[in-house]
Amino acid sequence: NATIELKKVTKNFKNTKVIDQLDLKVVAGEFLVLLGPSGCGKSTTLRMIAGLEVASDGEVLIDGDDIKKSLSDGHTIAMVFQDYALYPNMTVYQNLEYALKVHKVEKNERKRRLTSILETLNLSDYKDRLPSELSGGQKQRVALGRGMAKKSKVFLLDEPLSNIDVQLREKARDEIQSLHDKNNQTIVYVTHDQLEAMALGDRIAVMNEGIIQMIDTPENIYKNP
Ligand code: ADP
Ligand code: ADP
Repeated sequence: NATIELKKVTKNFKNTKVIDQLDLKVVAGEFLVLLGPSGCGKSTTLRMIAGLEVASDGEVLIDGDDIKKSLSDGHTIAMVFQDYALYPNMTVYQNLEYALKVHKVEKNERKRRLTSILETLNLSDYKDRLPSELSGGQKQRVALGRGMAKKSKVFLLDEPLSNIDVQLREKARDEIQSLHDKNNQTIVYVTHDQLEAMALGDRIAVMNEGIIQMIDTPENIYKNP
């Protein structure tokens, strides 16, 4: 469980400023939701925390260290991508297992974690399939499971439930929550869905046009005036 800190972070794509001097501190073990409309800069913010985009200006720190240091150790960060980003030539099982092998998680432990995740996400029957043989919702569940399996200190999720049908969505949401409670992960969770934000967040950061308009507990954000 690690602290995430963005200090006056700005991101430009060519001449367009999409993130404008953003300050954000996520405390260790916190579940923070980034909520806002499409195009407001949520994914870009998440990708900078993951080290996948470099800030044009400002600093991104994990536990007080520059992001590059956390990336090199491999255990610190896991991310679930909106477009799944599964390895096309690996089966579901291999997709889930790959990062665990790379990070030398022992075989029995890999099997234990993955059996449980496959079951929770109703993927047991699909474990030997390739991503091309799965529906969108199934692919999204694999992407979610792959992120969960790592039990990283920092867990970043970009609209991880958007394609999962309603019944399973609640179960998956509960699983994310219980994983967070169990492992005390620091979570940044991107969504445009207000109900999802309220159900999950310790705090919600409301984003619009590249800035955070307010950041507070769900109770304080949605209480009647
Ligand atoms: P959100 O996740 O809130 O939908 P994004 O962070 O994906 O928003 O995008 C914020 C803005 O940055 C959008 O206007 C988007 O078009 C733009 N943008 C995102 N990625 C790129 C990129 N690689 N190149 C150019 N513009 C981008
Ligand atoms: P190794 O660790 O040498 O790769 P394993 O027996 O763990 O050997 O795995 C052999 C292959 O079978 C791997 O590609 C692994 O991803 C896959 N595999 C292992 N266990 C399962 C399982 N329960 N279901 C589906 N595929 C599996």
